[in-house]
Amino acid sequence: MKKDFIFREINSLKGVGSQLSKYLKKRKIEKIKDVILNLPYSETDRSIISKINDLEIGKIHSIKVQVKKLNFPRIRNLPNKIICEDDTGKIDIVYFNSREGYLRKLFPLDEWLIISGKVNFFNNRYQITNPDYVTTLENKDYVVKNIPKYNLTKGINEKKYRSISDQVINNLPKIDDWLDSYFIKKNNLVTWNDGITNLHTTNDAKNNKSKSYRRLVFDELCANFLALSVNRKRIKIKKSPKKFNSNYSNFIIKHLPFKLTNSQKKVFSEINSDLQSNSRMFRIIQGDVGSGKTIVSLLSVLNVIKSGYQCALMSPTEILSKQHYELSKKIFGKDKIKIDFLTGKTEHNKKKIILERLKDGRIDLLIGTHALFQKKINFKKLGLVVIDEQHKFGVKQRSDLAKKGGDECDVLLMSATPIPRTMMLSLYGDMDISKITEKPAKRKKIITLSKPEKKIDELWPYIKKQIETENQVFWVCPLIEESPFLEYSSAKKKYELINKKFPDKVGLIHGALEKKDKEIILKKFLNKDLSILVSTTVIEVGIDFPNANLIIIENANKFGLAQLHQLRGRVGRGNIQGTCILLFKEGLSKTAIKRIKILKNTNDGFFIADEDLKMRGFGDLIGYQQSGIKNFRFADPIIHEDLFKLAENYVLNIREDINEKKYLFLLKLFDKAEIINIKTFN
Ligand code: ADP
Ligand code: MG
Repeated sequence: MKKDFIFREINSLKGVGSQLSKYLKKRKIEKIKDVILNLPYSETDRSIISKINDLEIGKIHSIKVQVKKLNFPRIRNLPNKIICEDDTGKIDIVYFNSREGYLRKLFPLDEWLIISGKVNFFNNRYQITNPDYVTTLENKDYVVKNIPKYNLTKGINEKKYRSISDQVINNLPKIDDWLDSYFIKKNNLVTWNDGITNLHTTNDAKNNKSKSYRRLVFDELCANFLALSVNRKRIKIKKSPKKFNSNYSNFIIKHLPFKLTNSQKKVFSEINSDLQSNSRMFRIIQGDVGSGKTIVSLLSVLNVIKSGYQCALMSPTEILSKQHYELSKKIFGKDKIKIDFLTGKTEHNKKKIILERLKDGRIDLLIGTHALFQKKINFKKLGLVVIDEQHKFGVKQRSDLAKKGGDECDVLLMSATPIPRTMMLSLYGDMDISKITEKPAKRKKIITLSKPEKKIDELWPYIKKQIETENQVFWVCPLIEESPFLEYSSAKKKYELINKKFPDKVGLIHGALEKKDKEIILKKFLNKDLSILVSTTVIEVGIDFPNANLIIIENANKFGLAQLHQLRGRVGRGNIQGTCILLFKEGLSKTAIKRIKILKNTNDGFFIADEDLKMRGFGDLIGYQQSGIKNFRFADPIIHEDLFKLAENYVLNIREDINEKKYLFLLKLFDKAEIINIKTFN
C-alpha cells in the first residue's frame, strides 16, 4: 500500500458504497485517515472464561468446553454441529459451509478447547455460530487478546465497521517515521505504525497514558506546533518600516487622566519596535480585564496613522465597538484623525459612503465588528489591524486575516481570556506575545463574596446603600446554556422583581433586544440614569463602565473559575472598590468552596486560569470548548503536560524544511495542512 492510501476517500475501500459512506460522513469519517484516528472506545474482554450457564445471549463470550459429539447432517443446507459441554451445561457450535475434514481436525472428540464468539440461543440450547476463535488450552493466549469496539452510528453495524477498520489497519502502509528511533526510545514512545496498530488491536486506546496513546498525542501536538510555525513564517515577511514621530503619542499620554503603568509602557514600546522593523508585526497583548489594553492599542493606531497608513479596529460586539469608537473620538478628536464606525447593521447608504471614503483614503481609522472584513471592503493603504477580545480567532482566521490585510499590514490582537500556561504556545505559538502584568496603580482588588440564593433578601438593603452613594450595579442572570429563550425569560423575571424594589432605576438587556434598544439602555446606564443593569451574559467582558462597582452573579456554580474572574472584571475599573457577589442555589459543593477561596485570594488571571484547568480538568472546560481553546482531540494539557513541552522543543529544533514529505503527512493527518493552505502532497 502506498502512503497516500491514508488520505483517500472512505469509499475507495472495499465494501464501502455510497450509502455507507454517507453514514460514515455523519460521524466525520470521510477519509481513510479518519478511520485511523477513530479509536475504539472499549473492547470485548475475551480473557474471562465464562461458564455455560452464565452466558448472556447476544454477547461475546469465551468458554472452556469439552467436545462431546460431532454432527454432520447429510442433508444440504443444514449446518454442521459440534456439541460441547462444561460442568454447567451444553452448547452447540454451529458451522455453515465448513468441510467435515477441517472440523474433525479442529474439534477432536473429548478434547478440552477454548472457544470464543457471539452467543445465541436456538432450539432451547446455547449456540455459537462460526466462532471467532477455537483453540487448545495451550494456545489460550491467542484467544485472550482483545477485539476493539467502536462508537457506531445508526446504519452501521459493529461487524461492518470492524471490517472497514480491519481493512485499514491491516493495510496500513509503512510510514517513514518523522521521529527517529533514538528519539522514540529515549522518550518512551513507539513508532507511528506500531502505535496506530496497537491502538486498534489492544487496550491501549483506553489508556491515555499508554505508549501508543502518548505517541498519538505527541503527533497531534507536533502537527499543531508545526502549523503555527508555518503560519508564523508566512506572516512575518518583509514590509516597509513605519516611520512616525513619537511627539504625537507623547502628547496624548501627557493629557491622559492617568499615568501609564510600566507594563503598558513596555508593551507599547514592543509594538513600536515591531512597527518600525522591516518584518510584519504579528503580536498579541495578553492582559487581564481592566489592565488597560485599549489605550495601548490606540496609541499604536496613532503611530501607524501618523506614518501615513489606515487602521482597522475590530471587536466582537456592537457595544464594545461603539465604546472604542467613542473613546478614540475623545482621544484623537483634536488630532484631525478621521474615524468612522461600521457594523453589519450600518445603513446601506451610510455604508456606501464609508466604503468610498475608505478606498480614497479619507478614513484613517475604521472601527467596528466583523463587518470590517467583508469582501467588498477595501482600504487604500491598510497598515494595522487591531482585534480586541477575539479569543475565537483560531489559526485559520489569523492566517486569513494576515492575507486579507496585505503585506504591509501589521496585526495586533488583544485578549483578556485567561489561558493556562501550558496552552499558551499551542494557541499563540505563531505570534509574539506581550503581557500586561500590572494593574493600574490605584485599582483595588475586587472583593468577592458568596451567598446562597435563598438569602437574596439580605441583598436589597446593601444594594440600596450602593445606589444612594451613586454606585452602579450589574446583575448577571442565570446561565442556561440550553435555551436562549429561558435565559431571556429568567432575566425578565428578575428584572421585574428588582424593578419593584427600585422603581425606574433598573434596565434590562438581553440578546433578543434590538441594537437600538440595547444602545439606549446602555447609554442610560453609562449616563447614570439607571443604577442597576440586569443582563444575561450578552454584555461582553471588554466594556468599560467606570461607575459600576457591584456585580451580582446568579447560578455562579455554573461558571468556571476563569469565567467568573472575567465577569467580575466588569466592575471596579475606576478607583472605587469593586465587589462581586456570587449567588448559589443550595449548599455549596467542596469544589465550589475551593473556587471561591481562589477567587477571593487572587486577582491574577493567569494563575486563575491554571487553577481552573487543574480543578475542572480539560475535558470539562465547556467555556474553553466554546471559545475554541479546546482544540485537541487526544492531547490533554493536564495528563500530557510533559508532551506539550517535548513537542514544543521538538518543533523548535526541526532543522529541515517543514515542506518535507513526512511533515506534510503529519499536518494532513490532523487537518492542519488546509488551515495553513498547504495543498500539495507528493
Ligand atoms: P482592558 O485591558 O480590559 O481592555 P481597558 O483598556 O478597557 O482594559 O481599561 C480599563 C479602564 O482602565 C479604562 O477606564 C481605562 O481608561 C483605565 N486605565 C487604563 N490604563 C490606566 C492606567 N494606567 N491607570 C489608570 N487607569 C487606566
Ligand atoms: Mg478591553
